[in-house]
Amino acid sequence: MTVKLYNTLSRTKEIFKPIRAREVGLYTCGPTVYNYAHIGNLRTYLFEDILKRTLVYNGYTVKHVMNITDVGHLTGDRDMGEDKLEKGAQREGKTAWEIAAYYTRAFQKDIERLNILDPTIWCKATDTIPEQIALIRTLEEKGFTYHTRDGIYFDTARFPDYTRLSHQNLDALQEGARVEKNPEKRNATDFALWKFSPEGVQRQMEWDSPWGVGFPGWHIECSAMSMKYLRDQLDIHCGGTDHIDVHHTNEIAQSEAATGKPFFNFWMHGAFLIIAGGKKMAKSEGNFLTLENAFVNQAIDPLAYRFAAFLTHYRKPMEYSADAIEGARNGLQHLRNQVRTLQEKAGDIAAQGTGNAEFRAKFMTEINDDLNMPRAMAVVQELLKSDLDASVKLATLYDFDNVLGFDLAQVDQEEKLPEDIQRMADERLQARADKNWALSDELRDAIQDRGYLVQDTPQGTKVFKP
Ligand code: AMP
Ligand code: ZN
Repeated sequence: MTVKLYNTLSRTKEIFKPIRAREVGLYTCGPTVYNYAHIGNLRTYLFEDILKRTLVYNGYTVKHVMNITDVGHLTGDRDMGEDKLEKGAQREGKTAWEIAAYYTRAFQKDIERLNILDPTIWCKATDTIPEQIALIRTLEEKGFTYHTRDGIYFDTARFPDYTRLSHQNLDALQEGARVEKNPEKRNATDFALWKFSPEGVQRQMEWDSPWGVGFPGWHIECSAMSMKYLRDQLDIHCGGTDHIDVHHTNEIAQSEAATGKPFFNFWMHGAFLIIAGGKKMAKSEGNFLTLENAFVNQAIDPLAYRFAAFLTHYRKPMEYSADAIEGARNGLQHLRNQVRTLQEKAGDIAAQGTGNAEFRAKFMTEINDDLNMPRAMAVVQELLKSDLDASVKLATLYDFDNVLGFDLAQVDQEEKLPEDIQRMADERLQARADKNWALSDELRDAIQDRGYLVQDTPQGTKVFKP
């Protein structure tokens, strides 16, 4: 089977071919860890998870590298503004290192809740400063850099193919340069490779360098880390569509300028999660929903978001609405109920092998067609409606679940409770063991307020959604 993927470089769907025969090098730009990820960010990680699972389903091994941006991502565009980490530290009265560690863990918890597979290698920008400095030195030796009062910049005019990925109109950008706040920049598109710590200011995160104490620009980390960990396996590089014009364009320019070789063969980008009226979800727009507040705290299984994300193709904007989420929640619950029914019917001979070959081929055709999850989900419905034996259906579904990631084989008779309800149920059990009846009653009320029923029976306590 061939896998076709849309390559932003060529603006077409291409047959995917990795550099090595069976192992794919995949680099996905990771989070900037100064705040929680919003569910827009998480949509991009879900798309990348489907990409990876599809490649694995096709028999490839995937070496997946994800970075954690824990320094150097400034609040303003074009290398102006404050460092997001240092700003987060001020806001929360913690150190920048504490902020990074806290939000890295929060991000990892989010992706775990969404059944997004862990990368093979996690890497932090602050762990690869020497590699970033070495890359900047190479660029300097080759004459691609210049010095300004606030840093070392990449001269984009020296890289003729600068707009290969973005197809931007450079004249229009130069026009915009007249409102640029940094008059020392030679071209509007030039970007910082290294920024100096401002005079008289001791930053929490700063390093010595051949040019002076400071910190790396945001783009250089992804070039340094992908080259360090993937070396000659630069197959696919991903992120959200907002990365096309600046971040990925700059990564390509500096990497190819340094090595003289192509930097990644495939560039893939996930479209945005938007809210009603077409606005993108972004921290700066004040319409920021996290997995915690939009799902966990509303007693909605985060996997309902995974389900919702699959109903829109990753290259189309996805509109967030409470109704869409409610629909996905019901859809997931319905799917799980059908799996339970099949499990009961199939009994002991449940789920052997990889299931029905015809449905497997249909499913594969869809996912291999540039990850067409809406159509793959339609194949799931078709399978459920088919007259195949329960055990064959189940085996086929479990096989699909390697890509879908809904944990269908773990669906048992009891529906899994949302984390916070489970936590309250556990605390209530402890309160009862301690004979703390007041607390136990309080917890029962709290659980019931959230729409769950609590029944104490001689066999134990049952908590369930009526
Ligand atoms: P950041 O933490 O800001 O570096 O973003 C992490 C990832 O989320 C990047 O790949 C962004 O392109 C992506 N992203 C940001 N906003 C959205 C959104 N509203 N919808 C989908 N992806 C997004
Ligand atoms: Zn990146």
